[in-house]
Parts: sequence; C-alpha cells; structure tokens
Amino acid sequence: MPRVDAILDEPALAGSPALRAIKRRFVQEALAELRGRAQKGEAAAAPTAAAVAEQVARRLDGLLVPRPRALINATGVLLHTNLGRAVLSRETAAAMVAAAGACELEFEVESGSRGSRLVWLRPLLAALLGAEDVHVVNNGGAALLLACTALGLPGGVVLSRGQMVEIGDGFRVAEMATAGGAPLWEIGSTNRTHVAEYAAALKGELAGQRAPASAILWAHLSNFQQAGFVHQPGLPELAVVGRERGAPVIADLGSGSLGGLPGGEPTVQEYLAQGADLVTFSGDKLLGGPQAGLLAGSAALVQRCRRHPMARALRPDKTTVAGIHATAIAYATGAEGSLPLRRMIGWSEGQLRERALALARALGWDAGCVRASEATVGGGSLPGDVLPSVAIAVPTAEVTRTARALRRAGVVGRVHAGELWIDLRSVLPEDDTALVAALRGVAGAGSSPTAD
Ligand SMILES: *Cc1c(COP(=O)(O)O)cnc(C)c1O
Repeated sequence: MPRVDAILDEPALAGSPALRAIKRRFVQEALAELRGRAQKGEAAAAPTAAAVAEQVARRLDGLLVPRPRALINATGVLLHTNLGRAVLSRETAAAMVAAAGACELEFEVESGSRGSRLVWLRPLLAALLGAEDVHVVNNGGAALLLACTALGLPGGVVLSRGQMVEIGDGFRVAEMATAGGAPLWEIGSTNRTHVAEYAAALKGELAGQRAPASAILWAHLSNFQQAGFVHQPGLPELAVVGRERGAPVIADLGSGSLGGLPGGEPTVQEYLAQGADLVTFSGDKLLGGPQAGLLAGSAALVQRCRRHPMARALRPDKTTVAGIHATAIAYATGAEGSLPLRRMIGWSEGQLRERALALARALGWDAGCVRASEATVGGGSLPGDVLPSVAIAVPTAEVTRTARALRRAGVVGRVHAGELWIDLRSVLPEDDTALVAALRGVAGAGSSPTAD
C-alpha cells in the first residue's frame, strides 16, 4: 500500500492547506478500505498513490459543494419524501431567508422585552383550522411523540391493532407514540376493533393493566387501506367514550389537508369536528409548507403539550416558524392556489399535454413521445388517489443508463413499462427550461420510442 504522506503529496491532493487534516483522514479511510478488501481477496493489484489521491479528491469535491443540491422531481409523485416533500412557494422561501439573520423570534419590538416564538402564528393557524389553540414542533413524528408523552402518562395510550401503521423508512406510529415512555395498550384485531375494547382500556380492565389508560390514539391509515370484514369505531364514537372517562382522543392525521383538494383525504377541521381533542400532522405534506409538526385542538391539551419539558427539545427553528407562517398567510388570504403543491394538483390534463408537446418540440422529439400518465400526491395520502397526468418518454434504448445520466444532470424521472418517463405534473413550468437543457444533454439520438 502507498504511504499516507506520499498520497497527500500527489498533485490531485496538493494545495488548500486548510483541508489538510480532512484529506489526511479521508486518505486513511481509503487505505483502510483497500486493506480490508485485500484481506478478503477482493482487490486486484495494489493501487498507486496517484489513484488513491484521485479517489480521495473526487470524494472531497462531492462534499465541498453545498448539499442537498436542487433536483427537478419528474417522478409524478408530488410529495416525494426522498426529494424533500412539498416544494416551497417563492413567498415561503423568501420569508425563511428573511428570518435567517437576527429576527424578532422571541422579542417584542414595541416594548423591547422578551416575546414568544409562536405568538403570531398561533392565532392565525388556530382560526384557519377551527382549533382553540395550535402548537408547532419540528416534524409530524415529533408532534405525535409530544402529544402521546404529554397526554399519555401515567396510564398509557390505547391504539387499535388495525391502526398500527408503518409510514415509511421503518417509522411506526406505535413506536413513536411510546418512545417518550407512555405505555401502549393494543386492542382489537388487525381487521376488527370494537368500542367496548376502548372503554375497557380506559377503565383499566385489560389484562396486565394496573391503571386506566390516559388517552386514545387514532392513527390515519395514510398509505394503506383495509377492506372486507373490517370494523373500526369512528372518531365521534371514540370521543364519547373518551369524554366519559376524561381521556383525550389524539388523532395522528399525518397528511394534514386543510381542504379544497380532490380525493377523499380527511381534513384537520373534519377530524376536530368529529371529536378529536388533538390532531397532529406534518407541515410539508398536504399543507404545502416546510418540514414541521403541528398540534391543533383544545386549549388545555395544547397547553399541556407546550409546557412539557420535551417541547423544548422538539421546537422549530426561526426559518421553520417563518415558513409555516408564510404558508398560513397564503391560506388566510385565499392565495393557497399559489402554493406549488396546489398548482401541481390544479393543472388540467390538457394544460400538461400542451406543455409536453411544447417541450418535445423544443427538443426536436417526435410528438409520439408524449404519454398519458398517472401521478400520485404521495406524502402518506390515500393510496387510491391518483391524478391523470402527462409524461414524456425519453428516446433512449438504454433506460437505466440514461436515467442515471439524467439524475446526474439534476432530473429524477420514473421508469414505466421499460421506458424512462418525465412526468410533468410534479414539475413546475418555471423549471421547463432547465428540464429541456438536461434532457438535451442525455437523450440518445435517433432511437425514438414508438407512439402510444
Ligand atoms: C407522515 C406521517 C407521520 C410522520 O410525519 P413526519 O413529518 O414525516 O415526521 C406520522 N403519522 C402519519 C399518519 C403520517 O402520515
């Protein structure tokens, strides 16, 4: 193996003395990996110092550009968790930048004294949601954790086995609800749960229970559906049982629609009207704002959450507060149609087809590359809700290779039926110029796919 100092002296790693310590560490890591592979008999010849230096330089270059870099989401999944969920409006992004410096986060300008971080946001959000009060935390998982920890002790939370949802990336509602120490009382079976089982848990009558459960947890099924021989009491029934026993109903809605969207996704206001005492949801799903978690409901319960010591650990930063506030202003002023998610949902198929044809023309591609597609909202909204969409099939015989080249050029498409599709419903028209430039760079000439 080449020596560390010899590698560091190679031209590829020369210069930038400030980076010397990082380079040394990366060279040591590269050598350790090579040694490990050699021991397993995987490596061929010992690498040259120049080759290791090149490899380390490439790695370092990749880390010294500001990341995450911007991408164009042409997957047709409008709220793609891996691509940053809701695209922020220009107004929201500007508000977040404006709050980046010193700002009146916890400061009253008139009196010059200490203020409260959510003092402007709370009344606006509460009015929009029809809730007595609202609290904001770092994300939807944090909202659920805080609600179940602040309201679920000492007796624990009751959750139907039919609602023990895994959202994605191993995130399970039941695990998040209990991570703060509240015991979990599972009731019912996968497909059927009865109101009497909730009542028994609230009386402390379940096997192993020493005290009555403190709260009912209702979890929106989000990304899956049950059909057939199924039964789940609704929120109004649970509200009655909860009220009789003084146990709040916490509803983890996740998606957080405020209404005005196609499809059957429940809204925060509906959940509250149906009897949920506290509803938790994400800021960057159907609300269309930055990552945040919202808790909306009764003033006393929101207050218990806000005053819980854990609230401090989960609080949102100044840019999040500013971004959620800008999003709330859009709803309050009837300008929610300007939120990118709403714009994407609102385009007609005809509008998308016109755009697709214009893009094909700009690229010099045959109009036959335009395809009828189906887009989904994503972000834990109902699995059956699809939106008719339009895609462009990239003329290439090598789908996997072209898809990777396109990703490197900043565009993420979707492979459908052996073709690489650029679904336009998740792409903002202001990105069309950049999209054309990226597509021009990667498409193979001549091998146009056949028309529908
Ligand atoms: C998405 C979701 C969450 C988690 O929210 P994050 O903002 O991703 O932390 C929790 N519960 C439900 C039902 C969800 O759909």
